[in-house]
Parts: sequence; structure tokens; C-alpha cells
Amino acid sequence: MNVEGIRSQFPALRQKVHGHDLIYFDSAATTLKPQSVVDRITHFYAYESANVHRGAHFLSDQATVHFENTRKQVADFIQCDVDEVIFTKGTTESINMIAASYGEVVVQAGDEILIAEFEHHGNIIPWQVLCEKKGASLKVAPINDLGEIDLNLFLQKLTSKTKIVSLSGCSNVLGTITDLKPLIQAVHSVGAVIVVDAAQLVSQDTVYFKDHGIDFLVFSGHKIFGPTGIGVLAAKKEHLALMKPYQTGGSMIKEVTFARTTYQDGPMKFEAGTPHIEGVIGLGAALKFFQQIPILEIQNHERSLRQRLESDLKQNPAVQIFGESKNKAPITSFAVKGIHHTDLASILDQQGIAVRSGHLCTQPLLARYKTTGFLRVSLSIYNNLDELEKFNSALKKAIQMLG
Ligand code: PMP
Repeated sequence: MNVEGIRSQFPALRQKVHGHDLIYFDSAATTLKPQSVVDRITHFYAYESANVHRGAHFLSDQATVHFENTRKQVADFIQCDVDEVIFTKGTTESINMIAASYGEVVVQAGDEILIAEFEHHGNIIPWQVLCEKKGASLKVAPINDLGEIDLNLFLQKLTSKTKIVSLSGCSNVLGTITDLKPLIQAVHSVGAVIVVDAAQLVSQDTVYFKDHGIDFLVFSGHKIFGPTGIGVLAAKKEHLALMKPYQTGGSMIKEVTFARTTYQDGPMKFEAGTPHIEGVIGLGAALKFFQQIPILEIQNHERSLRQRLESDLKQNPAVQIFGESKNKAPITSFAVKGIHHTDLASILDQQGIAVRSGHLCTQPLLARYKTTGFLRVSLSIYNNLDELEKFNSALKKAIQMLG
């Protein structure tokens, strides 16, 4: 993979932070944006700005074509049908939408919803709220010491009462990439549906919505080189037909009278009001950029960097790495005994190195590991060995200072 060629497409990497070249190791929080995405959005604002689905003039027609072409691009990307793709604000809104629009229709008192121990708060709380509303219970499948879902315990938690199982395909803390296919078969065998939180997964592996029999799949544009405020909810058509609208208003209707309203079918039923048009178009540019690079090359590059990072970290016996799955994304969360994660993160920041620290929106996982917080390095296609070396020496110095 031509890493230098890729780096040159990211203007953010040309800047200094606190007098140092930026080293961006926080891509699991959000990726940097390539020039092509920035240019596409600027072009829309400069020349193409118009509302969609309102017909009547050239610019509006063009905006609608670009908007709907992106829906097709997304469908090809995750391998579902175009009328199964809803645009949302992001992963969080997508999961809230499933809980409210689908969950409230199908979940009854006494039913169960199953998630895993490593879920992001965005894949915990919407289910908690739904359970409270419906008198259902939230079950949690434990992870093993490698940070993987324990298959036997998962199967024990699945019962005839389970209605929804919601799992992240890739943990934002442990980096674990879960082999979803066998889990999905088990989920379907008890008559439940599977929600895949693919926020981290989409930049790591090919997603096969249809082939894997996924019922609902969600992701955010900003974690795959696209804009913030735009995301996707893909849902099987049979589920879309059952779901009630999440929001109501313009665009999502067939007919409105003061007595009653009828709604559009398919994705449009869930896209009330003017959508995030430039977000959608920017997401299209991001997917185009991402799909130009073979996924195997991305995996090889990012995972070899992660392995290098982890073997360097392991030289220090005070370092504890969380998550040692065999199939692991370039996400390394760790703690250094006796040193607070926030102190380390701010010393690294002073040297232009951006990492994430804290609970990473997974407080139950902190409790499981009995730690006060994680320091997370998350790598992407634009990171290189030189940056890792600089990080290593900066971290060593920081540990010496604080230790
Ligand atoms: N799930 C996972 C696994 C995530 O990593 C994130 C973002 N950190 C989310 C959900 C929430 O995504 P967003 O903030 O884009 O809605």
C-alpha cells in the first residue's frame, strides 16, 4: 500500500500541533478526511446547493440524483438492496431508531434483548430504555479474557424470549472483530433478529448484509473518512414494513389531511424533513475514496502497525493491554500501572500526538477490567512506522516523568 501517497491526501497531516507534526492516533473516534471529501462538500455548497426530492428545477433534480446515487453506493458497499438503506445522523441515532421504531412494535413485557459485555454506550442505553418502557429485560453475553464473546455463554443467554440481539462487529476498545455468521445463525434459530453495530467494522472488513442474514446494520460516516452527522441504518424490507416512523413531518408522507396522514413506504418513511444532503454526498465521496484501496492491503498495513505497537508496549511490564483477540482491528487500549491515563494523554498531546483516554463510552467494560480508564491508540491507513517510533519514545519519556 502506498502509505505516503495516502498521507498526502489528508491535509490535516500537514499541520503542526503544539509545534510538532500531528500524529493522529484517534481514528476510532473519528477519521481524518481526505481532500476529495472536503472538495466534494465544498463543491456542493458552492455550486449544487438545493433541496432534494422537491423536483421542479435543475439544481434540485441534480442534488436528488447525487443523494440517491449515494444510497445505491451504500447498498453496494454493505451488500443490501437500495430500498433497505435509511440515512440517519449516525450509529447512535440508527440504534435509537431501531429501538423506538422496531423494538416498540415487537418487544413485549417479559421479552429479552441481548447485547455483549463490550458494547458502546450507544448500543446499551437505547435497549435499556426500551426494556424499561416495555417491561422487558436486558441480558448481557460475557466476554472471555481475550476480549471475545464467549460462544457457549452467548448460546446460554439466547432463549425463546430473546427478541433482539445487538452486537458490535468490532469493539471500539478491545478491537475484537467478532465472527458474526455463527452467532447470527443461533440468533435466528430462536426467532430473534440481529442488529450489527458496524461503527468500527466498516473500515475493517467487508460487510455482507444479505449473505450473513443481517436484519439491521448501522454505521457512521465520520469513522470511514466521511462527514459527521451522517450515518446509515440498513434494515431488511420486512422489518421496514413493520416499523413505525421515528419522526414525522415533510417528505415522509403520502397524503396529509387534518384528520389523518398516510406515510411513504421504505426508507423515505424514516427520513422526515430536509436531510443532511451534503453529508450524504460527502459520504459518497468517502466510500469512493475508501473502496479504491483493497481491503486486504488496509488490513495488512494497519494490523502490522498494531502488532508492532503492541510488541513495543509489552516490553514494559507496567503496561496492561486490554483485548488480545486473534482477529483484531488496529485498536490498542492499555493502562500503565500507577499512572493516570489522562496525564499520559495530555503529555502526548503536548508533543502533537492525539490519542483517546477515559472510559471510551464503555463504562461497564471498565468495571469488568477493574480499571479507572483506558488509553487508546487507534490507527488508520494514513499512519506509518515513523509515527509509531515517535509515539514509543514520547510514551517512554512520559512514563519516566510520571512514574
Ligand atoms: N458503537 C461503536 C462501536 C462506536 O465505536 C461508536 C463511536 N465511538 C458508536 C457506536 C457511536 O457512534 P456515533 O457517535 O458516530 O453515533
